[in-house]
Amino acid sequence: MNGRCYTDDTTIDDVRSGDQLSTQCECGHGVMLAWRRLPTQQQLTPLRDLRRKMVCTRCGARAPSLRIHGFKGTGSTLWEVWRWPR
Ligand SMILES: [Zn+2]
Repeated sequence: MNGRCYTDDTTIDDVRSGDQLSTQCECGHGVMLAWRRLPTQQQLTPLRDLRRKMVCTRCGARAPSLRIHGFKGTGSTLWEVWRWPR
């Protein structure tokens, strides 16, 4: 099994420690989420549902796209391992 493979139903709880969850708005504004501090109920909600309630702090647009980045191999390069919408 490919441990780097997140499913469509990925929740915050599924995000591995070391991987980084962030939002990316169409206006170009990106935010690294402090997702570990969110209530447990939200951490267990699929990110694609959670996304609808998210609002860009810069332009106010709703539902930014979501990305998960992880480190690959021994290098320090971040790779995108999941995105929504696809
Ligand atoms: Zn925006």
